[in-house]
Amino acid sequence: MSNDGPRSDERLLVIAVDGPVASGKTVVGRAIATRLGWAMLDTGIMYRALTRTALERATPLDDPKRLTDLAQSVELRVEPPQPGSAETAAIYIDGADATPHLREKRVEVSVSAVAAVPGVRERMVAAQREIVRRGRMVMVGRDIGTVVAPDALVKIYLDASPEVRAKRRAAEMRAGGLDVSDREVLEDLHSRDALDAGRATSPLRAALGAAHLDTSDLDLEGAVAAAIRIVERRLPLEITECAP
Ligand code: C5P
Repeated sequence: MSNDGPRSDERLLVIAVDGPVASGKTVVGRAIATRLGWAMLDTGIMYRALTRTALERATPLDDPKRLTDLAQSVELRVEPPQPGSAETAAIYIDGADATPHLREKRVEVSVSAVAAVPGVRERMVAAQREIVRRGRMVMVGRDIGTVVAPDALVKIYLDASPEVRAKRRAAEMRAGGLDVSDREVLEDLHSRDALDAGRATSPLRAALGAAHLDTSDLDLEGAVAAAIRIVERRLPLEITECAP
């Protein structure tokens, strides 16, 4: 089959990559997207951007109704980068660029509580389904294979031990200039894991049929290589062969 022109099953051309904090999702997702020449969207930025907006507008984070109203009323624009690009997506809320603020500490500690609100998820999932419809997309998150795109061509669930994930996240944060201890990061990670896996609406869990990849004993290159092997085994041959 040719790679040119629209396919009737274009909406299925999505790869779902899910997993907990610092399991390697973003690096793996980007590598798969580069390999296939597809776009990549890390959906965590959408929950982060909304959390930042709530903080800026002093919306009480313990008020699901106010958070739902905020989520349902804002104008949300997500611009995934060009296929194959190493850039991350840009996100605008009511026209303001939220992208530079997504890693702020106050966002980091509050995002899982905001993401647990059903009305917030409803809005984000609807927006993500719109994006998926564009096709040729690697989408990274917590509920992509289970809720957003259960008919994804390939689903991967990444995991690693909490200690390994905390070490990775602490190293990333220090590289970004933040002064944090491994212990502090491990505590934060445990509480985010508990909120993400314990929430009533679309909790973090592996999708039916997902390939599990434990990256505890792998470095990032090893994790990427293993994920690419999964994609090559599971994607229809004509798609991988046509990739750049
Ligand atoms: O992946 P990242 O750390 O940027 O995600 C931030 C938070 O957003 C997660 O801890 C989770 O609470 C939420 N999230 C979610 N569903 C997604 C993506 C992220 O609930 N698909």
